[in-house]
Amino acid sequence: GLINLGAPSGPGNTAADPSRRSPEELRELALRAARDLEGSSAEEIAKWATDTFGARFCVTSSMADAVVAHLFSRVSPGVDVVFLDTGLHFPETLKVRDTVARTMNVNVRSIRPRMTVGQQDGEYGPRLFSRNPDECCFMRKVEPLERALTEYDAWATGLRRDESPTRANTPVVGFDAKKGKIKVNPIAAWTQADVDRYIGRWNVPVNELFKKGYGSIGCWPCTRRTKAGEDPRAGRWAMFEKTECGLHV
Ligand code: SF4
Repeated sequence: GLINLGAPSGPGNTAADPSRRSPEELRELALRAARDLEGSSAEEIAKWATDTFGARFCVTSSMADAVVAHLFSRVSPGVDVVFLDTGLHFPETLKVRDTVARTMNVNVRSIRPRMTVGQQDGEYGPRLFSRNPDECCFMRKVEPLERALTEYDAWATGLRRDESPTRANTPVVGFDAKKGKIKVNPIAAWTQADVDRYIGRWNVPVNELFKKGYGSIGCWPCTRRTKAGEDPRAGRWAMFEKTECGLHV
């Protein structure tokens, strides 16, 4: 799939939308699925998601690695993969995105903030990320994701329980009450070893920064290398009491 900044073109997206559901329906669906699918394979969870939501479903990826995008490309070729293009990504991250678009059967959609980095600098002063990262993340990630998700009832992430204590209770299918949408986490139960095995087996693109000592990868101003034995997310917003960008609260 080529990079597409326009309309979504997921499977079945041409017809009118018979699959649109109310937040109440989605909440019940999520609760049931979380119970029924706990212990299922990542492929089974992915299949349930694309069977259930059709064109009203997307994968989101930070392009740290492309495991979840790859998983869905096998289960549901042509699926939309949403990437939040903050304008402050490392070149290595954009390279993963471009490799995914070139080599996988998915529809990569790069979603941009309302303001360019230059416009934001003009309005809020330069380096807002060093003064108020929550505000910067809101404008460059949280709002763009919300805008992108208006076209979908459910989205998938690569969240894993073993990434950090704050993610230890991640369900395989959850309901985001604030957004009124379902969040699917097909690899929630995977360990880092499971991820590494999948990458090796399918030769999945991985961000080169992992080899250069980064444990977790986001925008370049807010990501530093981590030391051996250190929590991988310690390298994110290291100057602040902040380890999450607000996408996963
Ligand atoms: Fe801004 Fe940093 Fe958040 Fe990126 S991670 S949006 S640069 S505060």
